[in-house]
Amino acid sequence: MNIYKQLGVKTIINGFGTVSKIGGSVMAPEVLQAMTEASKHYVEINTLHRAAGKYIAELLESEACCITCGAAAGIALATAACIARNDPVKRLQLPNVEGMKNEVLMLKCHRILYDQALLLSGAKVVEIGATSFAMPEQVEAAINEKTAMFFYVSENESMRGSIELPRLIPILKKRDVPVVVDAAAELPPRSNISKYQKMGADLVLFSGGKELRGPQSSGLILGRKDLVEACQASSSPNYSIARSMKIDKETIAGITRAVELFLEKDYEKIYETWTKMSNFMATEIDKCGKAFVRTGFPHEAGIQPANILRVYIQPKEKTAQEVYDRLLSLDPQIYTDIRGGEIVINPQCLNESELKSIVDAIVGNLS
Ligand SMILES: *Cc1c(COP(=O)(O)O)cnc(C)c1O
Repeated sequence: MNIYKQLGVKTIINGFGTVSKIGGSVMAPEVLQAMTEASKHYVEINTLHRAAGKYIAELLESEACCITCGAAAGIALATAACIARNDPVKRLQLPNVEGMKNEVLMLKCHRILYDQALLLSGAKVVEIGATSFAMPEQVEAAINEKTAMFFYVSENESMRGSIELPRLIPILKKRDVPVVVDAAAELPPRSNISKYQKMGADLVLFSGGKELRGPQSSGLILGRKDLVEACQASSSPNYSIARSMKIDKETIAGITRAVELFLEKDYEKIYETWTKMSNFMATEIDKCGKAFVRTGFPHEAGIQPANILRVYIQPKEKTAQEVYDRLLSLDPQIYTDIRGGEIVINPQCLNESELKSIVDAIVGNLS
């Protein structure tokens, strides 16, 4: 009997994606093995944390890396680092920001539910522009002696009120404002690991529990050495605002192994498999005649990764919501997404053996 059965919690066939509320991702056996090995010994956490960060930075060709317990923790840590820098007294004073720069600039249309993490360090968010419009001149005008950092949410880059990062970086560099990019769910493609740093971003945040397929509570901060050092110094077991974002030796080992595996993967093949899976599901579901079925890529902002082919299903006899709810009530639950009257399946977290189950469940619940 597994722990989920014991607790009476249904497992999920995940046609949605690497989403925290349904478990993030599933770890490879090699990652679990690294975690098990790590669990057998005592070790100085600071020494391990730094050594693993240094190794991952080398692997990912970044100046430096700090492992976190998630990309949201990365937002909090990066903000604390930009506010207190490498001053140990200031670090202990947070979230009281008296005597420190504490304004975080961001485009209004980049506001996301995760940005509450910015406030944990005592930062004040300054929104720039309107939901549907912003211009570089407004960013420049918002910079003052209290500005601590600029926060950019990569998945909102294509929104109407957004500005491309390369247009903003020179303005922010000129005034010495560190740029932090939230790229939590921007993998694949693998090239996104270095993309924002090449543009000149100072820190870039990734989730370890999404496509990196590390422990669900893991993440990476990549970038500038002095700022990463400030993140490192703020991390548990050291005392600072991030003491409550503890990272354990098993997670450090797990994400380290997961990064190695991520770099070994043949993404061309993986994309091919995802495309095949979506085409198979679309063809099979279409055969029943009870829905309009198509494949395609998401083009609305905020849906990441956008480059994986999805299946879109518009039921003919029921609403998409009714079908979606029926799928959730099954055991195992079938998780999909729902967008504009269509059920959406993302193959990213499915394995071949689950395809028939998901097709049968959808066909069986369309009428
Ligand atoms: C998932 C996500 C996060 C949070 O990542 P965790 O690793 O779950 O903390 C933050 N920002 C964005 C844009 C995300 O998609």
